[in-house]
Amino acid sequence: MPGNATVTSQRAPIGVALLGATGSVGSSALRVLSRHPHRFVPVALTAHSNLAALQQQVSQFKPSFVGLVAPSAADVPADWGAGPGCLVEAATRDDVAVVINAVVGAAGLQATLAALRAGKRVALANKETLVMAGDIVTETARRHGGELVPVDSEHSAILQCLAGRDPSDVRRLIITASGGPFRTWESERIAQATVGDALRHPTWQMGAKITIDSATLANKALEVIEAHHLFGIPYDRIDVVVHPQSIVHSFVEFVDGSVLAQMGVPSMELPILYALTWPERVPDTGVPTFDPVRLGSLTFEPVRHSDFPMLQLGISAGRQGGAAPAVFNAANEVAVAHFLDERLPFAGIVDCVSAAVEAHGTMPGDSLDALLAADAAARAYVHARVGS
Ligand code: NDP
Ligand code: MG
Repeated sequence: MPGNATVTSQRAPIGVALLGATGSVGSSALRVLSRHPHRFVPVALTAHSNLAALQQQVSQFKPSFVGLVAPSAADVPADWGAGPGCLVEAATRDDVAVVINAVVGAAGLQATLAALRAGKRVALANKETLVMAGDIVTETARRHGGELVPVDSEHSAILQCLAGRDPSDVRRLIITASGGPFRTWESERIAQATVGDALRHPTWQMGAKITIDSATLANKALEVIEAHHLFGIPYDRIDVVVHPQSIVHSFVEFVDGSVLAQMGVPSMELPILYALTWPERVPDTGVPTFDPVRLGSLTFEPVRHSDFPMLQLGISAGRQGGAAPAVFNAANEVAVAHFLDERLPFAGIVDCVSAAVEAHGTMPGDSLDALLAADAAARAYVHARVGS
C-alpha cells in the first residue's frame, strides 16, 4: 500500500545489526541498507577476522557498535567488541530492532537465539542455524515474540507466495536448485573435481562454503530442512527440482492444485530487502529489470540423486531428527573446509559426512547442550578421519 510506505518513511530509521558484514550477503545487505537510509540504519557490524574490510565499512557507515570475532593482531580499536561474544552483544542491543544474520556456519546459532529471546526480528541468511537446532530456534521465536524471516532466496520466494496464508492451504513446496557447476558432469569427473572447478558457480556469486555446498547439493539439503522448520511443512511434501537458470526461486502448490512461483534475476538484494520490510513491500531500484523475452527459456530437470548423494543424505538426516541434522551440518562444514584446503577430494566430502552421520547421528538432540555436543563430536570425527 503506498500509504503505508509513506508512514514508514516518516518514522525514525530502524536500527539494524549486521552479523557477517564483510561477507557476500553482508556486503549485499549494506548496499540495500544504503539505498534506504530513511528506513534503516546499520548500528552494529561484525566480522570474523577481516579487519581491513570491516574498517572500511565502519568508516562509511559509522555504526555505534563494531565487533571482530577473531582479531589476528592487537591493532583492533579499543572501543570495538572482540571474541565470539560480540555477536550476541551486537544482536541484543537496545538500539537494534532487526538482526541480519549473515554469518556462515553454526557459529551464528547463539546470536540468533539471543536476538529472538530479546524479541527482535532475525533476517536469517545463516541457514546452518535452523538445520542444527530448528525446533529450539522456532520455539524460542514463538515463546519470546521474536520474528524469524528468511533471507535465503528460495525461502523468501515461498514466503512471498504464501502471503500470509495458513500452512494448511499448502499441498507441496517445490524448491528450485541451479544444479551447481557439475549439473551436467559425469560422476567420474565430479569425483575428481578441483577446488577451482567447484568454486565456479554458474548463476550465483557467493561465499566459498555455500558455493561448495551448491556443487555437492548439500546446500539444497540444508534448504529443505530450513523450509521444514520455517513453514512447518512435513518432509514428504517438500520436493526439489533442478532449474539451471535460477529465475524461479521456488514454487508453492496449494491444496486446490494452483501453483505460485516467485521469479527474478538472481540477486540476494531483493530477498534481503523483503526480510527487512516483510510483510510490506517498498519501492527499490536495486534488482535488475525483469525481461522475460531476454531470459528466454526456463527449464526444469530432475535431480541426479546417484551423482549428488548429499541431497538425500541431508534430507534423511532431517527426517531422522534429533541430533542427526546437526551432525550432518557440522560434518559438512569441516569436510568442506578440508576440501577447500585441498586435504580432501571432492568425493571425500560425502564420504566423511555420511560416516559422521552413521557414527554420531543417533546422539541425543533434545536440548541445546546435547546438540552442541553432537556438533562437536561430528567435527572431531571428520578432523580425525582426514588426519588433522
Ligand atoms: P561469506 O563467507 O561470504 O561471509 C561470511 C561472513 O561471516 C563474513 O563476514 C565472515 O567474516 C563472517 N564469519 C565467518 N566465520 C565466522 C565465525 N566463526 N563467527 C562470526 N562470523 C564469521 O558467506 P556468505 O555471505 O556467502 O554466506 C553467509 C550465510 O548466508 C551462509 O549461512 C550462507 O549459507 C547463507 N546464504 C548465502 C547466500 C549468498 O548469496 N552468499 C545465499 C543464501 C544464503 P570475515 O569476512 O571476517 O571472515
Ligand atoms: Mg538458497
